[in-house]
Amino acid sequence: MDIQRLEAWYEKNHRKLIFRETNNPYFIWVSEIMLQQTQVEAVLPFFERLIKKYPTVLELSKAEETVFQKDVEGLGYYRRFKNMLKASRIIVNDFSGVFPNRYEELIKLPGIGKYTAGAIMSIAYNEPYSALDGNVIRVLSRFLGNDLDMRVEKNKRILDQKNQTYIEQATPKIYTQAMMELGAKICRPKNPKCEDCPLQEQCFAYLNDQTDKFPLLSRLKDKKEFNYITLLISFKDKICLRKRTESLLEGMYEYPQYEVESISNIVDDLENQGIHVSYYQYQKTYKHIFTHQIWNMHVYKMVVKEKVLEDWVLIEKEKINELPMAIAHRKIKL
Ligand code: SF4
Repeated sequence: MDIQRLEAWYEKNHRKLIFRETNNPYFIWVSEIMLQQTQVEAVLPFFERLIKKYPTVLELSKAEETVFQKDVEGLGYYRRFKNMLKASRIIVNDFSGVFPNRYEELIKLPGIGKYTAGAIMSIAYNEPYSALDGNVIRVLSRFLGNDLDMRVEKNKRILDQKNQTYIEQATPKIYTQAMMELGAKICRPKNPKCEDCPLQEQCFAYLNDQTDKFPLLSRLKDKKEFNYITLLISFKDKICLRKRTESLLEGMYEYPQYEVESISNIVDDLENQGIHVSYYQYQKTYKHIFTHQIWNMHVYKMVVKEKVLEDWVLIEKEKINELPMAIAHRKIKL
């Protein structure tokens, strides 16, 4: 890849977005969280209002949850803002209000996953950490002629590695933003503007007239994919289960599971509710395909002390087989 050319293109052509004209990690974090699932145009007025009202992470940490929810009303996906507030308080309490500048610290904060941590590290701190979002997946898949199914996590990780090798040869803060901008404005999902693209001369899809072939995304039909963190929780000598109340599999027992990005979100939540987590360890990821859904269950073993949640049911390990349990969880090995 001609990275110099890509970076020169970015310097000359990028949109002057308020959250791109800064290396303030707090601003970059706020914008990246807002941009998840939301268009730039919708984010801009919210972003401007929010950083005016909460100009620092310290100010944000003092916000009342209900007031803050109102501040972001209309953007949707509120869990991300709940996490944002929680993370701001951790930054104030554990980092004296100074935004963490190490990847390993960022990734532990609620709501910050690999992509967001990579974006903050590269844009704010100019450190070479890949930030692979949907736009970058599209650009790289076309550029490389990558014919792996990009719905598959393992394949995304392969592309992420490739992105990592490129960013290591680049100016990280320019490279990450250039790839994002290229994906948003030039290498669009439909009708990419290849004639304006700095990567055109080496782009596999362009040279082979196959821009509509990449990225390769298997048809999910109506299947929706969920990523859960699923917990095998021990309390005293028993295992915690939960009886489902959701319409899918209602009344069946399951291991408690949460649709969150990181285990630390759950640990914090439990600790906040007076449940002490004395141990947790990643075990294995299981996949289960239902007619209309796919569950990716990232299973952790966990030991808790003090008490359990009200909707958890305690049961001896040997008796689990006596309870009705969805096959998706039945196949998980204790
Ligand atoms: S040449 Fe076209 S398909 Fe290739 S990266 Fe550029 S815009 Fe995308």
